[in-house]
Order: sequence, then C-alpha cells, then structure tokens
Amino acid sequence: MVAAPTAQALALAAGLIRAGRLVGMPTETVYGLAANALDVAACTSIFAVKRRPADNPLIVHVLDAAQASALGDLGPLGQRLAEAFWPGPITLVVRSRQGGGTIALRAPAHPVARQLIALSERPLAAPSANLSGRPSPTTAQHVAAELAGLVGLILDGGPTTVGLESTVVDLSAKVPVILRPGAISPEALAAYGVLATAAGDSHAPSPGTRYRHYRPAIPVVVLVDGPNQSAAQVIDEWALVLAQAGEVPALVWVGDRRPTKWPGRCFASSAAMATGLFAAMRELETKATVLVVAAPPAEGIGHAIRDRLWRAAGGVFRIAGQLPSVDLGKGD
Ligand code: AMP
Ligand code: MG
Repeated sequence: MVAAPTAQALALAAGLIRAGRLVGMPTETVYGLAANALDVAACTSIFAVKRRPADNPLIVHVLDAAQASALGDLGPLGQRLAEAFWPGPITLVVRSRQGGGTIALRAPAHPVARQLIALSERPLAAPSANLSGRPSPTTAQHVAAELAGLVGLILDGGPTTVGLESTVVDLSAKVPVILRPGAISPEALAAYGVLATAAGDSHAPSPGTRYRHYRPAIPVVVLVDGPNQSAAQVIDEWALVLAQAGEVPALVWVGDRRPTKWPGRCFASSAAMATGLFAAMRELETKATVLVVAAPPAEGIGHAIRDRLWRAAGGVFRIAGQLPSVDLGKGD
C-alpha cells in the first residue's frame, strides 16, 4: 500500500494511473491524490474518495510548459512565469484548449511526481490526498491514515519540503491575480504584475477557496500581532484561560523555544512553520482539545500560512492584546 519509489513501484503506479486508478504521490508542496487527467471516470473517483465538492476543480500536473501548452493557452505572462518558477510550487489558471473554460496547470519539482507523470505518459489531476476539509498530508503516512483502502498505491517520497499547497495565479481574466497564496510569494509575483488578494478575502473567485479547509479535528484559535504585543508573546495567556475553562490547549508558534506545560510545536522560522504546520495539526489534534497558533507576519511565505490558518479557524483572527475568550465556536 505504501511503497518506496523504486523503479518497480513507479512502474506499478504508472500502470495503475493508465488503468484509471488513483495513486498517492509526493510533490514538493503536499502529497497529491493522482489520476489520469484525461480519464473522466478516474477524475470523478478522486471527488468520491476525497468527498470533495463537485464544483472545486482539480489542478493538472505536467512536466513542463510544453506539455502544459497542449492543454491550455499560457499566453506571454504564463510562459514567463513558467520559465521563472517551473518546475515549482505555482499553478497557472489559463484558458483551456478544450471548450470555453479554464484549466489549472502546474509542473511539480518533486522527482517522484515527475517520474510518475513521465512513466504514465499522462497529465495527472491531483488535489491534496486528504479528505475534503482536512489539513493536507505532508507524509505518506498521513495519506495512508486517512485514505487507507481507497487508493491503489501510495508512493513514499519522505516528508514534503514546502508543506503548503501551491500558489494559484489566475491568468484567464484581464488582470492577473493570486487566487491562493503559496511558497511563490505575492512579493515575488508583484514583479510580474500579478496582484495579490488579501488573506481571508471572502470574495476570492477561486471555487476551492469557498470551502472549509485545512481543519484539524479540534478548534483552531489564531492570534495575530497587535499594536503592542506579538502573537507569540500571548499564546501562554490564552492557553491558561482555555485550560481554566477545562480545555487542553496545544501551542504552535515561531520563535524561541521556551518551557511550557502544554503540548505544542515551536518553529525556528516562517518557512519551517509552513513545512511543519499540517503535520503539527495532525499530531496535536490527538493530544489537545484546542489549538492556539501564533500567526507569523504577513510577508513572504507568511501570507500563505496566514491564509491556511484563517480558513482553519473558520475566518477569525484574534489580535494579541485583546482579552482571551473561551468561545471556540464549537456550535458552528
Ligand atoms: P487543491 O487541489 O485542493 O490544492 O485545490 C486546487 C485549487 O485550485 C482550488 O483552490 C481550486 O479552486 C483552484 N483551481 C483549480 N482549477 C481552477 C480553475 N479552472 N479556476 C480557478 N481556480 C481553480
Ligand atoms: Mg486540498
């Protein structure tokens, strides 16, 4: 079920893809649930396995801009972005070559994903390999824990390096805009004239951004820096108030490791938090009843982290310095 990506396992996986089956594959962002993008029935089964809303379209994974161009019209800006960032964690939404719609295309950098695309000789439709609404898997074991029995084979490429899903850029409209922030940052894309949407923008036009997302089994409280205090400074106060109300808090923050009596994860940098956030959510949901996360600043990869945290928390940020409260919105 979970297999090291040997030549034999890759050949088996490519055979499964060609036969219309699903394969769990590592990419540099998160683990994907891959199917032959040209096989409608196979793609339909992705939605069934993930319990994914039918109107949340899939990203199609290709090797390069040439293969992408057979499926969609990248246009001059798409070509430039592909040259600059592919293979890598950016998805381009462009006009499809088939019908009047759009298609989302990405060339992943992970060698196992690339070998699977090459060996199966098909573009691969692949959303994250989790049940819809859950945090994305960043190890093969996360995929196995959630989708055991539903996937033909899971290729184990080790933990993913980026840890958050790709940046999604819409090039199909008049103004190029970021639909979902990722490791290719808004700052980097501004140089190409791509506009940013604010984290938590409820009017974001990408269908997938409408849904509940990235939620562990326990409520998530997200703290952002206030005018006088940083979020990382006040998580212990929040933990105390929550503990007094009978909760078991777990803490996640970027900064100095310090002694705390609660379970948690301290990350050395925003990039490290991006890599480990989803794994921390999966680990801590089994040890605590509420997760308190100090959001990193809105710069670079911080935009993407804050976007995921915003959705994980159901669209609420709490500002450091405001009084802790124990209303976790559990009734929602
Ligand atoms: P996931 O597969 O869960 O990483 O989500 C894929 C993301 O790409 C979702 O946010 C989708 O809404 C977005 N996406 C895929 N195809 C399109 C498209 N044709 N137009 C706009 N967004 C898209
Ligand atoms: Mg997903």
